[in-house]
Amino acid sequence: MHRAARPTAHKPMAGPPRTMKAMGAISRRHSVTVDVGGVLVGGDHPIVVQSMTNTDTADADATAIQVAQLAHAGSELVRVTVNNDAAAQAVPVIRRKLDGLGVGVPLIGDFHYNGHLLLTKYPECAAALAKYRINPGNVGTKRHDEQFAQIVVVAVANHKPVRIGVNWGSLDQQLLTEMMDANAALPEPHESREVMIEAMIESALRSALLAEETGLAHDRIILSAKVSGVQDLLDVYERLAARCDYPLHLGLTEAGMGSKGIIASTAGLSILLQQGIGDTIRVSLTPQPGGDRTEEVQIAQQVLQSLGLRSFAPQVSACPGCGRTTSTFFQEMARDITDYLRAQMPVWRDAHPGVEEMRVAVMGCVVNGPGESKHADIGISLPGTFEEPVAPVFVDGALRTTLRGDDIVPRFLKILDEYVEQRYRSPASAAAPS
Ligand code: SF4
Repeated sequence: MHRAARPTAHKPMAGPPRTMKAMGAISRRHSVTVDVGGVLVGGDHPIVVQSMTNTDTADADATAIQVAQLAHAGSELVRVTVNNDAAAQAVPVIRRKLDGLGVGVPLIGDFHYNGHLLLTKYPECAAALAKYRINPGNVGTKRHDEQFAQIVVVAVANHKPVRIGVNWGSLDQQLLTEMMDANAALPEPHESREVMIEAMIESALRSALLAEETGLAHDRIILSAKVSGVQDLLDVYERLAARCDYPLHLGLTEAGMGSKGIIASTAGLSILLQQGIGDTIRVSLTPQPGGDRTEEVQIAQQVLQSLGLRSFAPQVSACPGCGRTTSTFFQEMARDITDYLRAQMPVWRDAHPGVEEMRVAVMGCVVNGPGESKHADIGISLPGTFEEPVAPVFVDGALRTTLRGDDIVPRFLKILDEYVEQRYRSPASAAAPS
């Protein structure tokens, strides 16, 4: 379905303008701030990157290791499923293991069907989690409100926030049926897609109201309404954003594998983020069998950094290569430099504040190489296949040196290290006598 081709029932946006750009910056939608275990979500706080484990939570060792890996990759919140007694019992163990490793990342518990039972039965689990995720479509039917309120009561007692996470795959069927019936009775019924989107928003907002009526503070609620299609995602979040000031967790659910999942997530998230919508994001990527779970963290960071919303790691501008770069040397060099920068970041992050904003250019030949390299903080332009075998290195827009020979990469990395050392000095080292 083409977004521009179908009529929408958008209501005029309430609240502050969401799409106005000021001085080239993105103007964030107004939202309250929610404290998730010390990580502030919403308001003017940086958009938070989060992720979710895929280990069996009951396996405390495996889960703690994966949480630590995700946190090490930059995930600022990590969600684990809490689906049964064994998982609930493992949560405080995982928390202690992480604390023992010096990994303080807040843990979020994902509850479906039995959250009210598990959180009540296992108070240590309730205490160890920094936030509870409730899916209002999965808290029962006959005793829906009562069981939903049970979870909220535990959250209030433990001073925890909740995310009310609506998902179109598990939308509250009772609510959807009510809204479909009401729609069918209209003289001119809306399309079913339209009703579904409104039902998702209604489910999130009604649940938030019920949570507040149960005693949860307004600033302890985060909302999400995930769908798997980009156009649906835009419609749901644009409307939800206009109707409340709760922080919004963005994500395309069931995004899929590989390039499809990455591109669909990036497309949906970018359009919303550009409108100032979204306070925390997750990229729900299906990993390859045995694949690296931290990939979803890297993609979320890259989306935010590409939009200029946050900086996580130096950015490498590399040309795509063409017939002028007939060997693999150029590709290997671009890869090696990118890998080197990523590997250095855990050390550089503290030792060289600001280095995450460094721009590095790795260019394949003289056509665009010197020009692009001059625009970067530091850049190298390789010789093309038939060009003179020299590689000029530019630092802060000026030619620093010209490299020749077989050891161009290590010598460039040495220059890069020296540049980082001089340009991004920590306040402590800058103040120390030289
Ligand atoms: S910079 Fe040179 S090698 Fe790279 S794509 Fe352009 S012409 Fe090709």
